[in-house]
Parts: sequence; structure tokens; C-alpha cells
Amino acid sequence: MVFKVGGDIDAYCTKCRLDTIHVVVALKADNAGPKRVECKSCGGQHMYHAPKLPSRSEAPSQPAVVNRSAAARNPAPPKPPKAPKAAKAAAKAAALSPPAGASTRDWLRRMEDLALQGGTPIKAYSMRETFAAGDPVSHPKFGKGVVLEVLEAKKCAILFEEGRKVLAMGNV
Ligand SMILES: [Zn+2]
Repeated sequence: MVFKVGGDIDAYCTKCRLDTIHVVVALKADNAGPKRVECKSCGGQHMYHAPKLPSRSEAPSQPAVVNRSAAARNPAPPKPPKAPKAAKAAAKAAALSPPAGASTRDWLRRMEDLALQGGTPIKAYSMRETFAAGDPVSHPKFGKGVVLEVLEAKKCAILFEEGRKVLAMGNV
């Protein structure tokens, strides 16, 4: 801001004890700011004092500051943040578990059955191999699985831990 002698400026008047409009009488060196000012209300001249109150444009921010400090003094009660968090976690679990959980449970049961049967050799999956329903299979990417059904001559459905996959077979 550039100040100039004769210009109006908001300042604190030492006589009125108020922020009033003053006229700049003298400036500090290098235009560093007003040095002496004359009050337009009482006509008194005095050293420039910055206004005590924030200018009108800053005023609206005051209630917000008050609210913010009030909020800091009274942090939100612990319950509300906890409830949504728990609900969120439950919703997340609910969203994840039914599809994945069902097939994983099924897969686990199948794996247990195969283990109980014992002896059934696990075939390494290859599209050149031919499988039958109930065959245990080991796949390089999907891991251990069991053939659910043969869909057609060259396709079978295999249940892996991550779910049912339809894979090619018998491609000699
Ligand atoms: Zn005054």
C-alpha cells in the first residue's frame, strides 16, 4: 500500500480513543508508512497508531475463529466418530465376505474332503491335461483347486480358493 500526505487512513485516535479516519500529515522515510496523522473527528494531530479493531472486511471472520476455538475446547464426543467407523467396518466386511467367503468356505471344505480321501494325486493344471469332476488340481496362478464339473469336451470348471474358474483342458 502506498501512503501519501493528505490521504485518508484508518487509525487509532489517541484523543477520541477510537479508530477514526485520519488524514496523513507526514510519512516515514521511504514511504514505510504514515508518521503523523490528523483525526478527522477531533482535528487533533498525533503519531500514527494502527487501528485497534480489525477493519470491517476482517470482522466476519471473527465468529468463525470463536467457533473454532470453542470446538477445540469441546472436542466432539467420542461416541459419534466411533459408531460410523464401526458401521463402516461392518459394511466393508459385509461387502467382502458373502461372495468371497462362500466360495472360500466351499473351497476349504473341498480341500478337507480331498485330504480325508488321501492318496488322490493332485494333477498339475495344464490345458493339455484332461480332468474329471472331483479331480484335485494344482494351478501355477490360482493354487490348489478341485474340478467341479466338465462343461464340455475341452472345458472344465475348477473351484480355487479365489472362486470358480472355467479353464480349457484336453487341448492336445
Ligand atoms: Zn480524534
